[in-house]
Amino acid sequence: MLALYGTGVSDGIAIGKAFILQRELPEIPEYVIPHEYLEDEIIRFKRAIDASRQQLLEIREHIPANAPPEASSFLDAHLLMLDDKMISMAPIDTIRQQQCNAEWALKTQRDTLSAMFEQMDDHYLRNKKIDVNQVVNRILRNLLQQNYDEHEKMSPGEIVVADDLTPADTVMLKHNRIRAFVTSLGGPISHTAILARSLGIPAIVSAHSATQYVRHGEEIIIDGKRGMLIVAPDAQIVAEYLQRQKDILKLRQELNRLKTSRGITSDRKRIHLLANIELPADVRAAAQAGAEGIGLYRTEFLFMNRAEPPGEEEQFRSYVKVVKALPKKPVTIRTLDLGADKQVDGGRAGTAITINPALGLRAVRLCLHDTSLFRPQLRAILRASVYGQVKMMIPMLSSQDELFQVLELIEETKSELKRKRIKFNPKIPIGGMIEVPAAAISADLFAPYLDFFSIGTNDLIQYTLAIDRVDDAVNYLYDPLHPAVLRLISLTIQAGKKARIPVAMCGEMAGDPRYTRLLIGLGLMEFSMHPATLLEVKKIVLHSNAAKLNRSVQRLLNVRNTREVHALVEKLGYS
Ligand code: PEP
Ligand code: MG
Repeated sequence: MLALYGTGVSDGIAIGKAFILQRELPEIPEYVIPHEYLEDEIIRFKRAIDASRQQLLEIREHIPANAPPEASSFLDAHLLMLDDKMISMAPIDTIRQQQCNAEWALKTQRDTLSAMFEQMDDHYLRNKKIDVNQVVNRILRNLLQQNYDEHEKMSPGEIVVADDLTPADTVMLKHNRIRAFVTSLGGPISHTAILARSLGIPAIVSAHSATQYVRHGEEIIIDGKRGMLIVAPDAQIVAEYLQRQKDILKLRQELNRLKTSRGITSDRKRIHLLANIELPADVRAAAQAGAEGIGLYRTEFLFMNRAEPPGEEEQFRSYVKVVKALPKKPVTIRTLDLGADKQVDGGRAGTAITINPALGLRAVRLCLHDTSLFRPQLRAILRASVYGQVKMMIPMLSSQDELFQVLELIEETKSELKRKRIKFNPKIPIGGMIEVPAAAISADLFAPYLDFFSIGTNDLIQYTLAIDRVDDAVNYLYDPLHPAVLRLISLTIQAGKKARIPVAMCGEMAGDPRYTRLLIGLGLMEFSMHPATLLEVKKIVLHSNAAKLNRSVQRLLNVRNTREVHALVEKLGYS
């Protein structure tokens, strides 16, 4: 028996036989093509591109009907790449100029593109390099007539172990009813990891050398929550995990019963539990979890994986779809938070690559810099506001001036709509995300001009502790319980209370059951999170006493030893 560890990216337990998916390309041959055969070689290259396109289209056909839209958008991105000149034309020039075979021309082009991406600092573009490699390798396999028939050999119930998987592979795994997957490479925010979560497959990434330690057909256990892979477990471990599987199922059924109960603590404090969504289709999961509304709608996802940004009409339709799907419930539409790790596809003009993208022109800064992007969105949100309880939320505010500029633009947009006799809610609540330390420290200066705050702990932690949230190497420093973070959260909640405006939290911390009691104790009344954790958090809320927690947390804030803080948070509510 052997245990390997990686990063768990999609929860759940799976027990089954390993299917090792070997994806190594053979040595790429290099040979000279006589002049008279050059055009035939080019035709061979074009046929390989066509075959690759056909394969991707077939995979798209297999996407389950209930799969999220991301599933097909990743495939669409790969299909678009097949048409990109850098991939479909450049090798043809090389074949002609160097009189070499198609595989060699394509390999040379792949190496050039890889070297180019390698020099880029931007996380999104680094991810693009993986996509380009996956597309090029597919064409190479077709040129080398290395068939893509691994999937057919897989049997339902198996667990795939691979060095890396493409998003297209992930869709096929689901189609083939594969139970789970483990990869040696990859990160928690890779396309593949995102897909695993949306498709509901337990998954582990960056389990280094997994393909070397696991043999084909061997029994393995995947613990997606802990990021643990157990190879050849003994009977006792298998029995333990079978029991855990049953417990998880029972717990899910139990939690489902809480769907319609209100989030009220034992001392009758009302705690509102809302959901975060990325795309209109996510509303279904939010409704299924009994969310009281949407606390964060990340609108930037509508702008990704496409060459052109969506226009005002398309944005308007998306917002109205969400609002109509949740009648009488608040929907908090966050204005564009593009930039940093969330770049759009298509390399639109103006999105220059900077050294520190997280500290650069992102979110509200980008919107104020390029109002041609911002104004249509403001119009679309205002127009959607007549269809329900729409709120608008501004990300990454760091100075009062920025806020004043945004408010002015909103007023201008309202006047424009009024002139054109287009309906909107003139009293639409405008909130600000508190996710930059400067905003948290001076929250009292923002409060008089806003209708609500929402604390974005993902960025607040990144900026307070100076750790890039997508850099594996500094993940170990990520600590929501760092005294500086707790003080900033507390400051924001207090500033909101003083100004009598509601304070919500929509960062990952709000959906982590380990911190629910701490946050109630700090006075937080509104939590917005991934729908999957909502009922677990609700259960804790129902069993908490807010007044007692408030007293314990006040004591905890004065503890001068960080380790002790961690220990006390674990015990909160049990003492
Ligand atoms: C946050 O920063 O906590 C947040 C909710 O926004 P995002 O994760 O989209 O940056
Ligand atoms: Mg943020």
